[in-house]
Amino acid sequence: MFSDMDSFVFYIQLKEFLLKGEIPDNSANPRKVTWASMNFIIKDDRLLYVGPSRQYMRLVVLSEEEKRSALTECHNNPGTANHNGVRGTQNRVIAGYYWHTIIQDVKEWVRSCPRCQLNDRIKIMPVLHSIKVKKKPWEVFGLDLIGPLPETARNNKCVLTMTDLYTKWVIAEPMQSKTAAEVLQSCTCLAWLGKSLQTKGEFVCR
Ligand SMILES: [Zn+2]
Repeated sequence: MFSDMDSFVFYIQLKEFLLKGEIPDNSANPRKVTWASMNFIIKDDRLLYVGPSRQYMRLVVLSEEEKRSALTECHNNPGTANHNGVRGTQNRVIAGYYWHTIIQDVKEWVRSCPRCQLNDRIKIMPVLHSIKVKKKPWEVFGLDLIGPLPETARNNKCVLTMTDLYTKWVIAEPMQSKTAAEVLQSCTCLAWLGKSLQTKGEFVCR
C-alpha cells in the first residue's frame, strides 16, 4: 500500500511519463508507471484518471494541498457542498477527484469538521440502565425525537417530546431538524418547571 507521499510521487512520475514519453530515472517501479498510464490522460496540463472505460475524467490529486482543497470544495463550501455527511461528501469527491485514500480521508475530514461536530445528529441510544423510582413530578423525564415527518409551513419536520415519567405529562416541541443545537434550544422550554436540566433533571433517551 502506498503512503500518501509515495502516492503523490508515483502520480507525478506518471504525469511526466505521459507528457514526455520517458519514465524518470528515479522511478521506484517503472513497469508499474507504464502499466498504470493506460488509465490516465493529460488534458490542459493536468493528469486525469479515465479508467479502463474512459467514460469519465477525475482530476488526480498530486499534493496534500490539492487534497485539502478538494475536500474543502466537496464538503465545506456553501453552495457546492454544504457539509454533507460522509457518503454525500465521498460521492462528490469520487465524481471529480482521484487519489488512493479518498474513502479514509473523507471519513476523517467529516469526522473532524467542527461545524459537523456541532450539528451532529443526536444518537438515540437504547436505555442500558433501569429507570430510577420516581417520587415527584419532573424528577425523571424521557426524551423522544420523532421524525422526519411531512414538513410544515414553518419548515418544521421533527418533534421533540418530553415525558414526565411520574405524571406521564407530555410536552411536544416542533423542530426543523434533529441537531444537538436545536434540541438544546427546545429543552429550554422546560425552564418554567424551575428545574435545572443539567444539574437536577435526568434524561432518558428512548
Ligand atoms: Zn462539515
